[in-house]
Amino acid sequence: MYWLRSPIAAAAVLTGVLIAVLTGVLGLQVRQSYGVVMEMSRQRAESLAIAAAQLVDGDAHREVIEHGDQGSPGYQAAVAPLVAFHNSLPDLFYVYTMVARNGEAFYVLDTAGHPELRVPHQLNASNLMEVYDGLTEGDWLSRIYSGQSYVTPEPETDSYGTFISGHAPIRASDGSIAGFTGVDMNVAALLQWKNRMKDAFVMSVAVGVLISAMVGVIVAILLRRIVSDAKRLERESLTDPLTGAWNRRAFEFRLDNDFRRYKRSRVNSSIVMIDIDHFKSINDTYGHDAGDKIIKTVVEWATAMLREADFVARWGGEEFVSILAETSSNEGVLIADRLRDVLASLEVTGPGGDVIEFTVSVGVSEFHDQDKTSDEVLARADEALYEAKKAGRNRVVSRLR
Ligand code: GH3
Ligand code: MG
Ligand code: MG
Repeated sequence: MYWLRSPIAAAAVLTGVLIAVLTGVLGLQVRQSYGVVMEMSRQRAESLAIAAAQLVDGDAHREVIEHGDQGSPGYQAAVAPLVAFHNSLPDLFYVYTMVARNGEAFYVLDTAGHPELRVPHQLNASNLMEVYDGLTEGDWLSRIYSGQSYVTPEPETDSYGTFISGHAPIRASDGSIAGFTGVDMNVAALLQWKNRMKDAFVMSVAVGVLISAMVGVIVAILLRRIVSDAKRLERESLTDPLTGAWNRRAFEFRLDNDFRRYKRSRVNSSIVMIDIDHFKSINDTYGHDAGDKIIKTVVEWATAMLREADFVARWGGEEFVSILAETSSNEGVLIADRLRDVLASLEVTGPGGDVIEFTVSVGVSEFHDQDKTSDEVLARADEALYEAKKAGRNRVVSRLR
């Protein structure tokens, strides 16, 4: 594809790639910062669960499970430090204690920190709450009962919200584990933020891709137009509008080229210069349009009679030049004379139905060893043409050096 090779199209593609890379980097950063904030939340939940466990009197907590009700001194002793703790950390959603029984965790106390929960200080062993969803079995309970703290790896969602929960064992005075604390932190806002970022990321990727695709298509269309315009302009700058033949500039390019090739390989070509005889009087007699018609006729016949490899150009006015590629001057003279003969036999119809006859004079030359520039071969062809005119016109003269 041509447009891919152009620097502008490459720039458009690069821009698209850059947008994609930047968006990707941004997405990765957001993902990482989410991970960092989540990890910080987990660490906080765990630390606070450990702090709360330090505050709870393990012996009193055990008494709550075994005998306690809300009015008992053990109950008050167990719950009061937790309530104070929760009051000092109002952003915590739920602060509570639990015990494990037969591999299941049961709620024992809570601080009633959240009005929705409506279980103020009234839990005891005979009034346990529901099983702790999904997390009752497995490692985490045995981990806590071996003395370690625990924090949920991922946020858990229930009917109250989305939480990270930290847990730490509560010790009795004999060192045994009397239960464990629970600290729930609501991370719904964090998850919401993550989802919004995800949406924004998908959106920006989509918009980025769309914009680069659009820019790519527009650039491709523009470039195609520019390339075809450039080709047309180049063609126009090298051709003659009246006859469609190559113009003087195109001829000079071609002549230079052939001259260099001759210098390299000694492959010679014939240069043929043609001028219509008494053209001024044809114009005067039959009009300018008739003159134009004859100019076109000369180009048509010259093009038709010469080979594809040969090069026909309008030098200017009613003068034409041709390069007969890889043709010796002897041969060139024969070919030029054949063309001259045909042109002389033509009858062109003028505006009033007049039959116009015309002739041309031709000068032929070829490259020479001592030529310094291609102008010299042209000058010789021009001299030959001048001689043809002087000798009576309607003839071919060659000048080789
Ligand atoms: P000679 O045999 O010596 O070449 O005589 P000539 O009349 O052809 O000589 P000259 O070169 O002086 O005249 C060329 C004329 O060609 C002059 C100009 O009016 C005419 N001419 C030049 N370009 C055009 C053209 O594009 N169309 C027409 N119809 N005439 C042109
Ligand atoms: Mg002339
Ligand atoms: Mg003339």
